[in-house]
Amino acid sequence: DAVVRLENVSKTYGTGTNALLALDGVSLTVRRGEFVCLLGASGCGKSTLLSLVAGLDRITGGTLDIGGRTVSLMFQEAALFPWLSVRANVELPLRLQGLSRPERRKRAEELLDIVRLRGFGDKRPHELSGGMRQRVALARALAQNADILLMDEPFGALDAMTRDILHDELERIWREQELTVLFVTHNVREAVRLGDRVILLSSRPGRVIEDYPITHPRPRR
Ligand code: ADP
Ligand code: ADP
Repeated sequence: DAVVRLENVSKTYGTGTNALLALDGVSLTVRRGEFVCLLGASGCGKSTLLSLVAGLDRITGGTLDIGGRTVSLMFQEAALFPWLSVRANVELPLRLQGLSRPERRKRAEELLDIVRLRGFGDKRPHELSGGMRQRVALARALAQNADILLMDEPFGALDAMTRDILHDELERIWREQELTVLFVTHNVREAVRLGDRVILLSSRPGRVIEDYPITHPRPRR
């Protein structure tokens, strides 16, 4: 049961002499419940691939099929609304889904619990540490209740210790919430720590050069 399927996908930016082939014949699938890490050097086309899956940009060749499923995105910078409280940031997607005020409040509290930020709902983003802001961003991404969570180096700006903690937290949340995750990183350790599968992209142009399963020391589900 493939949730995301790319077959021979290519992406060219620009035209003529300015054309840049960012992705060249990329084929991959993400199955329901998988945690797939997309690993590659800076500039190899990882963000490009995520934006194609997210529908933010168009492929120039091949086929990309997410079967009408919904995606949510999380980036390196949390991009929280600074004038809104943590709770209001998490409630935004719930508002767009048409939930009533009491329903929104209840769900936002659940989500803040899930990311271990109970009691921080009234804070503003700038009052929190970088790690905590990424927790808020994760809660907001989960609030979208999408079929696929796309993560673009979400912990890349954090110190190593905070990143380790958030790896544990993300694994727990992925397991408990039965998420399907496509996670982009240039960090080998991170990819192997988190992924059920690691897909390695070459640079210039981006091509899949490895797609291998990861065996974790403890069963994950
Ligand atoms: P990564 O996420 O792996 O660092 P990107 O997907 O950001 O790589 O970039 C892949 C290649 O495509 C790079 O050479 C980059 O300069 C180029 N690129 C990315 N976005 C654009 C754009 N909007 N216009 C032109 N070139 C782009
Ligand atoms: P992480 O975000 O991975 O939990 P941090 O180093 O960001 O790690 O924070 C560690 C803990 O310190 C947080 O879980 C929180 O309990 C506390 N903390 C950090 N910053 C603040 C803050 N601005 N106000 C209150 N508590 C904080």
